[in-house]
Amino acid sequence: MEECPFCRIVKGDLPSQKVYEGERVVAFRDIRPQAPVHVLVIPRRHVGSLLELGDADGDLAGELLLTAVRVARQEGVDRDGFRLVVNTGWRSGQTVGHLHIHVLGGRIFRWPPG
Ligand code: 5GP
Ligand code: ZN
Repeated sequence: MEECPFCRIVKGDLPSQKVYEGERVVAFRDIRPQAPVHVLVIPRRHVGSLLELGDADGDLAGELLLTAVRVARQEGVDRDGFRLVVNTGWRSGQTVGHLHIHVLGGRIFRWPPG
């Protein structure tokens, strides 16, 4: 767990551009942005993926989602539209094993995703 890059970001051991800091949730800019706005919303606590959320984590799950919407508003992409992505497992493209919601905006997105 010590090696988890997002736990290191939460602790401040790894620098990041934070855009929101709550008691349980943090949001920071993606290091390799895939859109003009690309922010990651994560729980402070290490949770490996959506699959590790338990029945007692409803409030945390809601807070993560509401924070993603707050960030979209804050970044000014709410009116034109934005996309939330939660890759879960390697086949989906998850590369960091700490739950994160991608908030993507500022350009047009296609469907289906790649
Ligand atoms: P995933 O592929 O797991 O859904 O998304 C992981 C995201 O984390 C990628 O978009 C990647 O660019 C981003 N990322 C990986 N390491 C770091 C880091 O050290 N700092 C920041 N700010 N973003 C990171
Ligand atoms: Zn972690």
